[in-house]
Amino acid sequence: MTRPAVLFPLFAEITSLPGVGPKVAPLITRLAGPKVVDLLWHFPIGAVDRRHAPPVAEAEPGQVATLTVRVDAHHPPAQPRHPYRVICSDASGFITLVFFHGKAETWQRLLPPGSTRVVSGTVDIYGAERQMAHPDYIVDAAERAGLPQVEPVYPLTAGLAPKLLTRIVGEALKRAPELHEWLDPSLLRREGWPSWRDAVLAAHAPTGDADLAPLTPVRARLAYDELLANQLALGLVRHHMQRARGLSIRADGHLAARALDRLPFRLTGSQQRALAEIRADLAGPARMLRLLQGDVGSGKTVVAVLAMLDAVEVGHQAALMAPTEILARQHMATLQPLADAAGVTVALLTGRDKGRGREEILNGLAAGRIAVAVGTHSLFQDAVAFNDLALAVIDEQHRFGVHQRLDLARKGRGVDVLVTTATPIPRTLMLTAYGDMDVSRMTEKPPGRRRVDTRTVPLDRLEEVVGAVGRALGSGGQVFWVCPRVEESEALDVAAAEERHRHLSQVFGPRVGLLHGRMKAADRDAVMAAFAAGALGLLVATTVIEVGVDVPAATVMVIEHAERFGLAQLHQLRGRIGRGDRPSTCLLLYQPPLSATARARLSILRETDDGFRIAEEDLRLRGAGEVLGTRQSGVPDFRLANLDHHQGLLAVARDDARLVLAQDPDLATPRGQALRTLLYLFERDAGIRYLRSG
Ligand code: ADP
Ligand code: MG
Repeated sequence: MTRPAVLFPLFAEITSLPGVGPKVAPLITRLAGPKVVDLLWHFPIGAVDRRHAPPVAEAEPGQVATLTVRVDAHHPPAQPRHPYRVICSDASGFITLVFFHGKAETWQRLLPPGSTRVVSGTVDIYGAERQMAHPDYIVDAAERAGLPQVEPVYPLTAGLAPKLLTRIVGEALKRAPELHEWLDPSLLRREGWPSWRDAVLAAHAPTGDADLAPLTPVRARLAYDELLANQLALGLVRHHMQRARGLSIRADGHLAARALDRLPFRLTGSQQRALAEIRADLAGPARMLRLLQGDVGSGKTVVAVLAMLDAVEVGHQAALMAPTEILARQHMATLQPLADAAGVTVALLTGRDKGRGREEILNGLAAGRIAVAVGTHSLFQDAVAFNDLALAVIDEQHRFGVHQRLDLARKGRGVDVLVTTATPIPRTLMLTAYGDMDVSRMTEKPPGRRRVDTRTVPLDRLEEVVGAVGRALGSGGQVFWVCPRVEESEALDVAAAEERHRHLSQVFGPRVGLLHGRMKAADRDAVMAAFAAGALGLLVATTVIEVGVDVPAATVMVIEHAERFGLAQLHQLRGRIGRGDRPSTCLLLYQPPLSATARARLSILRETDDGFRIAEEDLRLRGAGEVLGTRQSGVPDFRLANLDHHQGLLAVARDDARLVLAQDPDLATPRGQALRTLLYLFERDAGIRYLRSG
């Protein structure tokens, strides 16, 4: 099944709209997105009411007014930089139309002296004089009826004229089709919500500020649609997984016990509890779908490995998948000695394995000779077949989509899935990211962890920081130097990192490495490996180092423009250091003056290293809407829904989705078909393909 034909016009490129050529298209793409549907979701943030038509003398400054005036006289500028002025009046008084740019001929043509004109725009008072600078509309009396009464005001981007954008959104709206209703009629009635198409049209035709509120029937309906699509998509995934019966893995844990003996430490209480929860899931008949959430360094990998050994003990296979090659290698290094102690065969499979070696691993997995596979997304590939995969562990979940989670799970019957993440997502946001997934939270850290000494330093003391970095390098320490993402432009943030790399290379020579998102994956892995091995002392990087690489000798982290980062992200970054036994320092360089929020954020980081507390503070400081918008949160971006306002709707959507899936798991009824369209509309169709195969 593919996207329903009725949606084709909405998923066409914006260039298919009249008036959107190669100059305008990139601007709109930046602002709203590349497709027609993106414009539907580009809601107005204001409304201009042109119905106010007072006599000139009563036009209030700052207000938009539509005035009927006689054109009295033109005053071309007396000096080059002065504006062009046109004096107009009605019986009550005078107003001057002011033009700072444009041609005299234009104003002569539009405003012939002696004529009557209708002008609409914002009125100002300048000295004793009423003015209107660059009226939005200048028409003759006959055209007056054609003036819009109320106009939407859209968020804009430089270079895009408001009128043009409004016209283009209007073209997009013409493509909005009537769609079969997917909402429950009784819900629609109870809430007084319009149909989808009426809601979209109304959302773009506000008549005043009241229509912009997030909980108007129009906006609530559309937010609900999006939340329902989200919950339904997650529900489909879960439903599909549970329909396949899980295996009952009843191990006595003797392999895990052997591995534990090999470890130089005891499990923390958190680790023991999480392991017990996972073991209960494994033993039960239903399929496991559990999220293991724990701060960086809380020891998730060890827990996952012990669970994998349980699966192997009773004759199954297990797989551990990491988002990058370097992490996969790191996991392999953790796993290998434990597997050796337990007498279990492990193999590492990455995209780089080719030829004979790769063949051997594939054969070993297919035949069951290899019990545990560690790898990157290459484990998803069709060529990889397992003899009897029973447990899939997916590390650092937020780098993978729902698709991939499912792909690995499909490689065996009823595969249990454990997802680990270091992103401390607040409870309130869990639901949108993971639906009804079960969660184990690890709140304790292994004993003996040193707190990272965290300091804030204004950017103008950069040279002192460079000096401190030099001392750290001199005493055998390693240093991360993180450059910020530049809003909306990866090219710019890469340029900033390259510039810093040049600067620090001049100071410290060839020990300085560079890592950024525009590099090829293999090059990135190579740089990271060189740093992990100590061949590089200082690593200048953009936020690509966020995900859990373990370099115990790294003791200093410098974060430039820390005020531009989210709190959760700063915490994640800081978690890269303080992993060894030496004291570590995190220097947060900021550009003064700090906003109140930025100051609060940085001081929370100085105070605590508790990821869950930081996540809650982050939510409190920024509001759910913004937390949801951040890349690193692991939570989907919503276009219309904003959990600051629509949290109540989320709970309704979850129940709605559950009920639908209980009654119509294949989305086969007429309402189910309409819901499929909804999933495509919000591009949450990942789960749909499992309807066929499921
Ligand atoms: P996470 O994946 O949660 O970030 P890891 O599993 O990578 O954390 O563990 C980080 C480090 O802590 C590893 O070097 C690991 O061996 C060590 N570790 C894990 N559990 C404990 C424990 N209970 N006591 C001491 N050290 C531990
Ligand atoms: Mg980890």
